[in-house]
Amino acid sequence: MFESLGNKLQDILDRVGRESKLTEAQVKTAMREIRMALLEADVNFGVAKEFVARVSEKAVGQEVMGSLNAGQTVVKLVHDELVETLGGQAAQPTLTNEGNLWFMVGLQGAGKTTSTGKLAAFYKGKGRRVLLVAADTQRPAARDQLEVLAKQVGVPVLKVADGETPQETRRRLDEHLRADFRDLVIVDTAGRLQIDEALMDQLSDLQTELKPTETLLVVDAMTGQEALNVAQTFDARVKLSGLVITKMDGDARGGASLSARSVTGKPIYFAGTSEKLAGLEPFYPDRVAGRILG
Ligand code: GDP
Repeated sequence: MFESLGNKLQDILDRVGRESKLTEAQVKTAMREIRMALLEADVNFGVAKEFVARVSEKAVGQEVMGSLNAGQTVVKLVHDELVETLGGQAAQPTLTNEGNLWFMVGLQGAGKTTSTGKLAAFYKGKGRRVLLVAADTQRPAARDQLEVLAKQVGVPVLKVADGETPQETRRRLDEHLRADFRDLVIVDTAGRLQIDEALMDQLSDLQTELKPTETLLVVDAMTGQEALNVAQTFDARVKLSGLVITKMDGDARGGASLSARSVTGKPIYFAGTSEKLAGLEPFYPDRVAGRILG
């Protein structure tokens, strides 16, 4: 990966000068290209600008690394910084022996319901007793869709009724858990096509009542620029604890993940890689960093 972009950069850098250390002029020239690469990968403009400023500071005066040329050295520095910004290592949500209750939040169409089913399959496979709660009362058929997924996975589902209050949901959930012990409850909450106050109020009320141990925002990788705004708004209103990025099997190069991660500082736990129940993987920052650089 350091080859193609690195060599392209080297051609440009040769015109600026050849030194054993990266000069300010080289870094400035290189960063113009890097910024372009980030924007092409759909990283938010402000995030790209800040990122480039941070790497520039580290890059000036840096020794050109052993077997690499100056262009490749820059790309390696950028790659390492991308990995760091994306979280370094793959991370997992917190799980204790019991009382785990996760909220899945996000805009309609992001892949919330699908991801809820995928997580149920993933954690059932790890020996967890999962219960799904179908609380997406917004999108017609979302609750039936989750019921179908639950059947496929082989886990029970509790369906929230239209007009049910958060208190009623809490009571029904407690009842359900008393009759049938579950150590991981995953709630598919209501989404809207666009962020609006009513959605946020509804989510916030349910959150106050159910007190989730994780609140995971589902972000569609294809939304690119919009991802920043979505992540920022949800985090401000319902305090996210982590992110799930879907549709990484599409054309998107993954810029949305960098934007969402940068603006919230929250770990990205999973990547959706297909429409199927098995299409869920841990999020690997180094792979995505490579993809963003193209
Ligand atoms: P929700 O409105 O957020 O609950 O969205 P859905 O879960 O219904 O997903 C919307 C569409 O995206 C459906 O057609 C899903 O099959 C599809 N989808 C969800 N996650 C992925 C993914 O990781 N990859 C692909 N290719 N499609 C996905």
